[in-house]
Amino acid sequence: MAPHPSTLLEPHTPPAVTTEPHVIVRGEGLTVWDREGRSYLDATSGMLCTNLGYSQPRLVRAAARQMAELPFFASFAHRTSDVALALADDLARLAPLPMGRTFFANSGAEANDSAFKLAWYYHQCLGRHDRFKILSQERGYHGTTVAAGSATGLDFIHRGFGLPLPSYIQVPCPDPHSALRQGLTEDDFVDRLVDHLERLIAAEGPDTIAAFIAEPILGAGGVIIPPSTYYPRVQEVLARHDILFILDEVVTGFGRTGAMFATTEFDLSPDLITVAKGLSSAYAPISAVLVGRRIMNTIADGSRAIGAFGHGFTYSGHPVAAAVAREALAIVVEEDIPGHVRETAPALMKALADAFHGKDFVRDVRGHGFLAAVTFLTGSGGRQEGEWGSQVMAKAVARGLLVRAVGDTIIVAPPLISTAEQIETMVALLENAYRSAL
Ligand code: PLP
Repeated sequence: MAPHPSTLLEPHTPPAVTTEPHVIVRGEGLTVWDREGRSYLDATSGMLCTNLGYSQPRLVRAAARQMAELPFFASFAHRTSDVALALADDLARLAPLPMGRTFFANSGAEANDSAFKLAWYYHQCLGRHDRFKILSQERGYHGTTVAAGSATGLDFIHRGFGLPLPSYIQVPCPDPHSALRQGLTEDDFVDRLVDHLERLIAAEGPDTIAAFIAEPILGAGGVIIPPSTYYPRVQEVLARHDILFILDEVVTGFGRTGAMFATTEFDLSPDLITVAKGLSSAYAPISAVLVGRRIMNTIADGSRAIGAFGHGFTYSGHPVAAAVAREALAIVVEEDIPGHVRETAPALMKALADAFHGKDFVRDVRGHGFLAAVTFLTGSGGRQEGEWGSQVMAKAVARGLLVRAVGDTIIVAPPLISTAEQIETMVALLENAYRSAL
């Protein structure tokens, strides 16, 4: 076998690949450049995270200032940095739930792992020593660590790793398209999903289940927008059994849906919210768990008996990442990024509908805010499963557009600073890619 051309073990890449990786060297605004000098409009926002575009000068300055002032100090054993405290205060002001406190981690997966441990700790504090099971959704995405990966409902994250761990249980995906396929009305579909959840809880025993985790809109699973009655009904079932509701706003937090948080927009009341990506617009790795007041009060009381919350990372609340996040949040608020997304999202949906709705081999077009998708009919036009997605994505890249394929779905998630004209250019490139694939 030919040797791999680099010493980098690349994430989500077969180690057997021997071709050169595509190397990006520079970014500005919505555009990145590769080593060969070709430019690409980034309709993926990095990985749904560079919400404020590349090379935002305020974020660069905030990082440099903090590097010079205090590049690092660990938050450990009741000693922390001023900037970690200040970021927690910023989040407490913005948070869409009655706030307790914020816990910092470095990635979305770590935030979700931390949320599971907070849920376990909460139940321990109440003397519930058997509540360890975590419920999640098929096709939900929560990261790839052993715990978050167990909650993720995608086979390629589990295969070969012995995941999910036995205490992680997945419920059916609330994909409105499966209702259509089964000939169900949306109400009947939601009734079935809720009934399934109720029966699952009864069969497992409510006293064995710690939490349920879900995304408001399933992103990496292919932009799946659950029926509007689904989460309110699920929430009601969870509350009845005091199964904590963890809302994973790693993608949706800080403006992507056209609101600061999808929690507010969809009128949800989670117990814990996890955020990452847009928190620093991806300029520095940082994530957080927003811990609701009720949970916080219980664990503060309970910790008197059971001791320290034995969890944390060297880089929890890293000063440089925290300073960058503070500046990113300031920009999101000052420039009313959620408002811009709300106003501009109809242009994204119109451009996608004009380009793809009713076209050959297209199953549907859908979206909410700046999180949209086109799904091709699997197996149509002589293609194998996933071929439409990979072919259209490759043609788009050749035309200078970065999009992400999940099976036969192409995800379009522009940076939140994109104008309607820039979005129309992105969609025109995507349509051109599709036509050339026909
Ligand atoms: N949660 C959601 C909804 C995500 O989309 C992702 C990543 O794409 C994660 C969690 C995991 O984040 P990370 O890759 O930073 O661990």
